[in-house]
Amino acid sequence: MKLQHKVALITGAGRGIGAATALKFAREGATIVACDIHEDAVQDTLRDCRAAGAAAIGLAADVTDRPGFGQAVDTILAQFGRVDILVNNAGITRDARLVNMTEAQFDAVIDVNLKGIFNAAQAVVPGMIERGRGVILNASSVVGLYGNFGQTNYVAAKAGVIGFTRTWCRELGPKGIRVNAVAPGFIQTPMLDSVPETVLARMNEQVPLRRLGQPEEVANLYAFLASDEASYINGAVIEVTGGLRL
Ligand code: NAP
Repeated sequence: MKLQHKVALITGAGRGIGAATALKFAREGATIVACDIHEDAVQDTLRDCRAAGAAAIGLAADVTDRPGFGQAVDTILAQFGRVDILVNNAGITRDARLVNMTEAQFDAVIDVNLKGIFNAAQAVVPGMIERGRGVILNASSVVGLYGNFGQTNYVAAKAGVIGFTRTWCRELGPKGIRVNAVAPGFIQTPMLDSVPETVLARMNEQVPLRRLGQPEEVANLYAFLASDEASYINGAVIEVTGGLRL
């Protein structure tokens, strides 16, 4: 098992890629702290992780709420003593073309997808520095690399996450902390529920593998990057896209 004796904090773990990542980490021996904006959202995740034999707790933690997130991390430290791995997975979309996008849509997406990652990293990094080790994994997206129609806010956040990753790998690498980003393509999760069938079919055609990705296929990469097998991978942005170029 790749992640034995590691304590992993995963944000947005109530469903989709976050839930799949929690379960994969549980199967690899990690202790799981599954955070979501609502605590009840993570109940299924916790049940699955415990069924896989892992110790797992759920916490209500909104990544946009700095004091609240700090308190959640204090709870983890009191219970487990440390956070070895932070997966900054929580994210939302509020799509509209530039000409139609409201300030509220822009701010909401930047707040969760960009500032939320800053908040969570600041809450766990001091402990990681103290121990001289840790792993931070950030959810970017293929659209952060290439841009995407109707996603000014989301693309800005996901490109910013790449900037965080390249900056933090320089600041934190000398302190024993690795920081990497994952850039998924189109992954079949509730985030895509609002996308019309015709658009999903067009997405499929764009992907050389001719299908959407599954959350588990992203979780597998997170598990590898979190493990000591990835001990020399730092500051990387790794695509999980089936070969998609937008
Ligand atoms: P998802 O199914 O929508 O799940 C996201 C989870 O994050 C939900 O459980 C949601 O909680 C939670 N969340 C939302 N706002 C939060 C906040 N402020 N604090 C804490 N948790 C919050 O999304 P997904 O498709 O699994 O995506 C996971 C990550 O991968 C995101 O960062 C996304 O941008 C990125 N990504 C996804 C795709 C894709 O095609 N699916 C592609 C590229 C990148 P509620 O359910 O309570 O709202």
